[in-house]
Amino acid sequence: MTIFRPIKKILRGTPAVDGAGVHLTRVIGHADIRDVDPFLMLDAFDSTNPDDYVRGFPWHPHRGIETITYLIEGDIEHGDSLGNKGSIRDGDCQWMTAGSGIIHQEMPVASSRMFGAQIWLNLPAKDKMTTPAYGDIRHEDIPTVTRDGVRVKVIAGEYEGVKGAFSGAYVPATYLDIALPQGETFQTTVASGLTAFAYLFSGEGHIGERKETVREKHAVIFGDGDTVLVRAGESGVRFILLFAPPLREPIAWGGPIVMNTQGELAQAFRELDEGTFIRKEISQP
Ligand code: MN
Repeated sequence: MTIFRPIKKILRGTPAVDGAGVHLTRVIGHADIRDVDPFLMLDAFDSTNPDDYVRGFPWHPHRGIETITYLIEGDIEHGDSLGNKGSIRDGDCQWMTAGSGIIHQEMPVASSRMFGAQIWLNLPAKDKMTTPAYGDIRHEDIPTVTRDGVRVKVIAGEYEGVKGAFSGAYVPATYLDIALPQGETFQTTVASGLTAFAYLFSGEGHIGERKETVREKHAVIFGDGDTVLVRAGESGVRFILLFAPPLREPIAWGGPIVMNTQGELAQAFRELDEGTFIRKEISQP
């Protein structure tokens, strides 16, 4: 029997300014970590005014997490302390494993629209200090499944037997970008026990059996069940759906560093002060 996942929480996010002055919406954050484990954060951005974002995120460290940056539109240049450089552009995704530590900058370039999201995915305790790595996922490498008007881009994981462009090495997370025209329905199996959430980039969706309405720029955290069901509202809907098994480990979160204990956090900040934070060669993109 199919059990459609109900809505556990709807999050509309709060405007925030981060980095050196980037206007964004923090949709998922500290208050939600129990409900979104193994995910930690979702920052959404959508602006046609470069003043909102060009100051960017200058040099800062990360440890203990993966950051997943997906741009529907826009251009972000990134670079790190070891000289790696690259760009994330329209439709691209960057899956960065911070692991034991990187120091990087993320600098959006003025474009007609900067539209996307950055999600933080926690690393299991045993992998927190793994070797840092970049997964550069180019838009042309993301498989698209189109059926009955439903368009699904499989960024990571698998959908209807189609393997995604990326496969997380530590947490087996599925990341789908779904577009539905008015009245169309999306349904997929999301096994009971997995954590699942969606973020609506645009339009409106009716969720589950009760068809509760969720509007654009809102996130839905799903309750348990085995199937996610979304029906598009009058103007269609475009949303991302992520799901993964929870870690159920203690979280010690200090800004860009997420560890399991306060001691590990203190050690990370001490290493930053002492200049010993970077442990290993970062694998080349
Ligand atoms: Mn960063």
